[in-house]
Amino acid sequence: MSSLNEWLAPELTDWRRAHLERQPVVIEGPSGRFVSIGGRTALNFSSNNYLGLTNDPRVKAAAQTAVERFGTGATSSRLVAGTLTIHAELEAALASWKETEAALVFPSGYMASLAAMTSLVGPGDAVVMDRLNHASLIDAARLSRARLLVYDHADADSLRQVLRRAPQFRRVLVVTETVFSMDGDLPPLADISEAVCAVPNAVLMVDEAHATGVFGARGRGIAEHLGIEAQVGVWMGTLSKALGAQGGFICGSRILIDYLRNRARSFIYTTALAPASAAAALAALRIIQAEPERRQQLLATAQELRAALRAAGWDTLRSESHIIPILLGEVERALAVAEALRAQGIFLPAVRPPTIPPATCRLRISLTAEHTTEDCQRLLTALNAVKDAVA
Ligand SMILES: *Cc1c(COP(=O)(O)O)cnc(C)c1O
Repeated sequence: MSSLNEWLAPELTDWRRAHLERQPVVIEGPSGRFVSIGGRTALNFSSNNYLGLTNDPRVKAAAQTAVERFGTGATSSRLVAGTLTIHAELEAALASWKETEAALVFPSGYMASLAAMTSLVGPGDAVVMDRLNHASLIDAARLSRARLLVYDHADADSLRQVLRRAPQFRRVLVVTETVFSMDGDLPPLADISEAVCAVPNAVLMVDEAHATGVFGARGRGIAEHLGIEAQVGVWMGTLSKALGAQGGFICGSRILIDYLRNRARSFIYTTALAPASAAAALAALRIIQAEPERRQQLLATAQELRAALRAAGWDTLRSESHIIPILLGEVERALAVAEALRAQGIFLPAVRPPTIPPATCRLRISLTAEHTTEDCQRLLTALNAVKDAVA
């Protein structure tokens, strides 16, 4: 035991000295518009509960009913005895919402991406990714053992350049997020999909983790928003953000889903999504379909807040969404601003490496449909009050 600790302790000490050690803040109760931390209430700008559904009475009731009906766990893998009617209903509802032939759900979005990428490509193939893609996509690409090629962030010309190498590979899977999780910007997805379609052995996979429920007339994401859904081969989303539940999904052709069900190790060798999560996601999906005003209001508030932050001189990068970064640079500065906000009753922790590149530390505002114009005003006032202190 002592040698184990000797291996690990020096690195922990280094992280601590560099202000990079992570210590989760404990939230005492629901994570909503407000959170309670250490007995104090703070206005919360850091949850991915984009449509406020995680505390919606209808979503909670659906989860409770599922516990009564199915118990608290799915008890086994989907392919053994873990497929419950609630999984089948959720998959049918997701496919019908997305207008794809089929859908498959997973215990997390991370596992959904892992399933798709490790099943579809392998040695002799290539995965082509945006430089800023999420860690789950990088991990999946590595685990697939396909060659990993990277193009410049949100740059279709750079993608075209990389795709010139496509004839060297059997299959090429091009993967991008549709709303980038740390910058809140959007890739030029129509241009990207055009570049992919021009290559005979290439297929497009989109990670709509942050766009699902938020963008598009029916809330299906950026591919819907831009009218390019037919060009997407593999459509990944999460049940854990706007849907307020837990889990992930892949939508696509019947053949794709049949294939994944037979091949994807992160589908097969793990216990099925908990019934309460599946039921909560299904209830949330109904609300997303019936109440478009939630996403409309969210995007309108986000637009106002971005404009106000920019007018006040904050660098919000190229955000075009409900994820709004405030670039602060070095870790000490980001921590100082986050701490000053906490003192004013605002919970907005700093994002540090390795989640983002060094010296691009930031606050990442994650706006939800529950936030009001007054909440945004309060945030702006608090930020502007600390501005001189950290200049
Ligand atoms: C959150 C996230 C995921 C993972 O989804 P989970 O359901 O939380 O596992 C995948 N991709 C991106 C871009 C994400 O932000």
